[in-house]
Amino acid sequence: MDIILLGAPGAGKGTQAKVLEEHTGLVHVASGDLFRAALRQGTELGMLAKSYMDRGALVPDEVVIRMIIERISRPDCSSGVLFDGFPRTSDQARALEHELAAYGRRIDVVIYLKVPDAVLLRRIAGRQTCKTCGSTYNMYYFPSKRLDVCDECGGRLYQRSDDTMETARHRLEVYFAQTMPLIAYFREQGSLLEIDGQQEISLVTDTMIRGLSGVATRHR
Ligand code: ADP
Ligand code: AMP
Repeated sequence: MDIILLGAPGAGKGTQAKVLEEHTGLVHVASGDLFRAALRQGTELGMLAKSYMDRGALVPDEVVIRMIIERISRPDCSSGVLFDGFPRTSDQARALEHELAAYGRRIDVVIYLKVPDAVLLRRIAGRQTCKTCGSTYNMYYFPSKRLDVCDECGGRLYQRSDDTMETARHRLEVYFAQTMPLIAYFREQGSLLEIDGQQEISLVTDTMIRGLSGVATRHR
């Protein structure tokens, strides 16, 4: 199966992807994580992406598409991918459909995590991530037991530099203008699975997994 996790910044895509990855065995491909990894490695791609990420703008389509096509051509992606943060524009969606078709695959399900705008800002501004294991916390909703220390592995927690209120506001505007139209696009195709992303994390997971098993049954 190839699954897309769609939703605004802060909707919970990364949080749910970690669980879904284990549940489905699919490979988690998150475009934002790939850019951050490239930046840590000091590559040209990382530097280029940073200039857009810092402003809360989208990295140009051709750059993102090239990166994703290269990623999914690797053997670990041959049985299916869990896309997170990609596609974000209609050109990206079409490029992905085209690329998957070349492998005889298609986008099976688009999980849309729906969260009200006011909640999103707080989620983004409160987000903390573990440098070592990638676990995500939230200073407002569920802080780590020890300040800035991961409960899971004892690693350091950090806040993303683009998670300031100002950049977050801009990222949401970009989402409404460029990514939201994809919701209608996938709904028309009949692949959209709409989930109330405002519920607590484990309930979102349960609802998502129930929805996915319904889709799997229909596919049989
Ligand atoms: P995205 O990948 O969509 O940008 P994240 O998964 O990183 O979003 O979640 C953004 C922030 O919101 C994180 O701090 C995360 O811990 C928190 N979060 C995620 N899901 C929920 C939820 N259902 N309820 C409350 N907070 C959540
Ligand atoms: P994320 O980790 O998904 O919140 O993404 C962080 C930032 O990376 C975004 O604000 C964009 O600057 C960039 N980015 C990630 N995915 C994409 C994408 N599919 N298209 C364009 N830019 C992206």
